[in-house]
Amino acid sequence: MVECECCGLSEECTPTYKMSIKDSFGGKWICGLCSEAVKEKMKQNPGLAIDGALENHGAFCKQFNQTIRINPKLSLAGAMRDIARRSYQNRNSTKDFCESKIARTMSCDPFMSCVKVQRSSF
Ligand SMILES: [Zn+2]
Repeated sequence: MVECECCGLSEECTPTYKMSIKDSFGGKWICGLCSEAVKEKMKQNPGLAIDGALENHGAFCKQFNQTIRINPKLSLAGAMRDIARRSYQNRNSTKDFCESKIARTMSCDPFMSCVKVQRSSF
């Protein structure tokens, strides 16, 4: 197990993989998510050195961790908002799904809930 130097997440990895990550990120081991974020950052700012991108992303992670730890309600509210938005989107896509595939999908849940909705509206 190695711990990400940006976000503190522990990940299991082989020594070879660990070395290759350390080689590409200036001797630091960072998790898959962070490495993607850092790579993305460098793509957006071609002038940015890897150290700068790492520092930048590390600060972001630290801030994120602190915000959650200090104010659990904040992250909870954010999570709830995400869930609400997602279920709203799901509802819309379920409706489309029902309308287009209603005849072919007899056994799946979106169909069942669609049937329920239709029955109650008739
Ligand atoms: Zn990380």
